[in-house]
Amino acid sequence: MSLDDESLEYHRQDPPGKIEIATTKPTNTQRDLSLAYSPGVAGPCRAIADDPDAAYEYTAKGNLVGVVSNGSAVLGLGDIGPTASKPVMEGKGVLFKQFADIDVFDLELDQTDVDAFVQTVAAMEPTFGGINLEDIAAPECFEIEAGLREEMSIPVFHDDQHGTAIISGAGLLNALELVGKDVESIEVAFAGAGAAALATAKFYVSLGVQKENITMCDIDGVLTTERAESGDLDPYSSEFARDVPAGDVSDAMAGADVFVGLSAGGIVDEEMVRSMADDPIIFAMANPDPEIDYETAKNARDDTVIMATGRSDYPNQVNNVLGFPFIFRGALDVRATEINEDMKVAAADALAELARQDVPDAVRKAYEERTLQFGPEYILPKPLDSRLITEVSSAVARAAMESGVARTEIDLDAYRERLEA
Ligand code: NAP
Ligand code: MG
Repeated sequence: MSLDDESLEYHRQDPPGKIEIATTKPTNTQRDLSLAYSPGVAGPCRAIADDPDAAYEYTAKGNLVGVVSNGSAVLGLGDIGPTASKPVMEGKGVLFKQFADIDVFDLELDQTDVDAFVQTVAAMEPTFGGINLEDIAAPECFEIEAGLREEMSIPVFHDDQHGTAIISGAGLLNALELVGKDVESIEVAFAGAGAAALATAKFYVSLGVQKENITMCDIDGVLTTERAESGDLDPYSSEFARDVPAGDVSDAMAGADVFVGLSAGGIVDEEMVRSMADDPIIFAMANPDPEIDYETAKNARDDTVIMATGRSDYPNQVNNVLGFPFIFRGALDVRATEINEDMKVAAADALAELARQDVPDAVRKAYEERTLQFGPEYILPKPLDSRLITEVSSAVARAAMESGVARTEIDLDAYRERLEA
């Protein structure tokens, strides 16, 4: 059976889809029902009317994330619209639940207008502890996220942008450690100037990369100041325009220490890999086919090539599931008003640090085919590593408290113990 057929069957099996609502309190007796609903439910209603924060005590708000999309940039499928995006959003709900025990309402909105989208989602603030924006096309995704962050005082996080930035950022820190290069002096070439690439470049600057050392390309080549001044670039990509001659991805890669591909499959060849600086770092993350495939890049030269892709069948998969469940877990548990830069950097640092630790046998068993030991083939933890939730969520919660966006203080030692259990 093909993967497509198997997946259709998987989703079709009764009940259709893969999620449902479950109750968490007894509902067996008349008494139970009069507590769960009228008239008993008036008690918590009054408590919340007196103090809106009591919603975190008496409702599921504090563990509920809205996964919101308009279906305008779904996986590699493109603009397939909101209804067709629903299996993906339900799937995101499955991952939130499985990895961090967070509940999700998936919301597929038939709305492409930025302001209307922002108003619709902002009006749902009472329902949710956080909002995960998903699969929304650039540049609207930038405007929607900025608008919602402005309007809402719960975390709003566009995973396709920041998840990718954080996970690959963790990989970058570890790859640099392995090749002995300093983050502040590296030259970085980007292929792609879309949602993921722009967020990733900005985040690398937060990690210490010098902005003037980043050369970014879109489909028409290097983003130059000349292109920006001629009005060829939108305001978002203009931010990374560099005062260099016109060129293409191969010009950007020549001499670069790091290549970041968030563009399209197969656009990089061996010659381009050979033109890079010593011990190059290549993150070819276009899905499903990377900018250059793993073996071709590794075999292009004799020195160390540290390679990551978006694929699970090679080492160093940049997989967003390493981030969003645990980042939201930490943010929700301190009732954070946002997911800020400090929290994102804390998540990347925690991921990088975890990959440097010895791997427990249970994780080794789950991935039996490979040696999991910090090195060029293992710069990122594995998704089934049960230490992720403890390390990443507590780092994010700590950063939220230290940066002043936590609305409740928690004891981190007790929190770590609870996450470990
Ligand atoms: P996007 O917003 O559509 O951006 C794509 C960018 O790539 C655009 O700037 C486009 O240029 C550029 N591009 C396309 N073909 C190119 C070429 N031949 N040379 C140079 N640049 C080229 O898409 P996105 O959401 O950022 O995603 C981009 C890619 O990254 C996708 O393949 C996606 O699957 C992958 N991705 C992977 C991960 C992961 O592995 N964890 C996470 C996120 C995204 P124009 O603007 O000029 O068209
Ligand atoms: Mg996505």
